[in-house]
Amino acid sequence: MLSLSYGKDSLACLGAIEELGWPLDRIVHSEVWATDTIPADLPPMVEFKAKADSIIKDWCGIEVERIRGHLTYEQAFYRILGGDKRSGEIYGWPFPKGPYCNSDVKMPPLDKVERSGIVYVGIAADEPNRFHNLSDTKKSPLVEAGWTESMCQEWCKENGLLSPIYTTVTRGGCWFCHNQSVNQLRLLRRNYPEYWTLMLKWDSDSPVSFHSDGHTVHDFERRFQAEDDGFLSADDKNFRWSMLDESLNYRLF
Ligand code: SF4
Repeated sequence: MLSLSYGKDSLACLGAIEELGWPLDRIVHSEVWATDTIPADLPPMVEFKAKADSIIKDWCGIEVERIRGHLTYEQAFYRILGGDKRSGEIYGWPFPKGPYCNSDVKMPPLDKVERSGIVYVGIAADEPNRFHNLSDTKKSPLVEAGWTESMCQEWCKENGLLSPIYTTVTRGGCWFCHNQSVNQLRLLRRNYPEYWTLMLKWDSDSPVSFHSDGHTVHDFERRFQAEDDGFLSADDKNFRWSMLDESLNYRLF
């Protein structure tokens, strides 16, 4: 079984598997959903996945299985905590170290299928720091075939399977991720205002700040609004949060 993420290394496993002549019965992708009706992927990624599924079907005759757990991100976010600390509060934004979105939303359905046989994962031959994740039941066709990351990228390009995350500013991973860059947040607000509004709502409800340094999505909203109003520059490499207050004082004055 190939565990597919739709990243270049993961997709290039198909080429390496063919080169090695390894058996392949299933291709499985664990999908995170923001809510019951909104996927965690941005629209260009949703489109790419559909296109990739059809190329893969033509390539090896296998239908990609999209699996999802019983919790959406929003459902996991609004779960009530038990125990001694923060009892009765909702989870809110995940802590960056050991985020529940990965352990409670993304991984459980995948862990369940992966237990049923040998799993191929997209670890490239030039990623030795990830080799410790391999075992008798978790194998990398790329390592076995000697395919490096750049070879994977080339193979995907040649086969129409290069995800927009490598060619455009589209973000891979969830659009609400706490780990994304400031610029990705800025683009999300500009291009997908309805998703940004949902993040602001979650932010108002969260007992945990969006970033571990205490900054919230509302702080980013103020920052981006100040940029829109011409009080701050999006390109300012020396941005400090105190500049927001300075720009606000200036406006009030
Ligand atoms: S991409 Fe971010 S939000 Fe999505 S599962 Fe991974 S850590 Fe969580």
